[in-house]
Amino acid sequence: MDLGLTGKKALVCGASAGLGFACAHALVQEGVDVVIVARTEGPLREAAGRLQTLGAGRAEWVAADVTTAEGRARIFAAHPDFDIVVTNAGGPPPGDFRQWDTAAWHRAIDANMLAPIELIKTTVDGMMARGWGRIVNLTSSAVKSPVDGLGLSIGARSGLTGFVAGLARSTVARGVTINNLLPGTFDTARLAGNFEAQSRREGRSVDEVRSARLAKHPAHRFGEPDELGRTCAFLCSAHAGYINGQNILLDGGSFPGVF
Ligand code: NAP
Repeated sequence: MDLGLTGKKALVCGASAGLGFACAHALVQEGVDVVIVARTEGPLREAAGRLQTLGAGRAEWVAADVTTAEGRARIFAAHPDFDIVVTNAGGPPPGDFRQWDTAAWHRAIDANMLAPIELIKTTVDGMMARGWGRIVNLTSSAVKSPVDGLGLSIGARSGLTGFVAGLARSTVARGVTINNLLPGTFDTARLAGNFEAQSRREGRSVDEVRSARLAKHPAHRFGEPDELGRTCAFLCSAHAGYINGQNILLDGGSFPGVF
């Protein structure tokens, strides 16, 4: 299927690795010119090089922290207009809410609620004026299926989810859709880090922790980042203009409800 994306320009945040890189990869394969962003220059430059070798869309990079106003300003100074924006950054740490002070909450809200809202604020009016745009926020399955200990992530991302639900209804008539992708458990460096932390906490090997999680998963496997990346590309496609304001769960069937 031709996704109708050739020549579009995309900003993909948190994209030197993991799910953000997978989104950028899928978009470049569809002929989209991407600007990828992450904080650490070396891996980011290397990731842009890998995208460039696909020989489809072009890949540029800007090293910036998207959770800061200064970082976001650096991106838009170099590239003022985008047709597609994928918001993403690292998730907040897990823990017991009794240990979190106001500063911890502010960091989570800055990264996982306000940064995406600021990125949308800077880009959505230009998209609406041009009559076409796609915004995809990477959030988490925990927004729909909460997990004790992930309160910072769930709290901040739920704020974003509620905000987007209202905004998306006001942009779609001008050709701009806004949707959220909710990853369950995907095989990325972040997941490996989570298993290592759990193994230290529980005094079990990483393999035991990983196997126990897989045994409980209905698919008996974790998601491949490419599966999420291609879903993101479809949501950005010319064919997805009537999918708007949705929270799309990619969790291999872990969520136990019907809807
Ligand atoms: P990952 O493998 O750790 O990759 C994170 C990427 O984001 C890296 O490129 C990282 O590069 C970049 N990044 C982190 N903080 C940033 C910032 N402030 N500004 C710009 N770039 C930033 O993580 P992932 O597994 O792909 O997860 C991506 C998001 O999805 C996270 O918010 C995570 O909580 C959420 N999520 C993941 C899963 C999963 O199973 N993997 C499940 C649910 C939710 P630098 O460090 O160099 O900046």
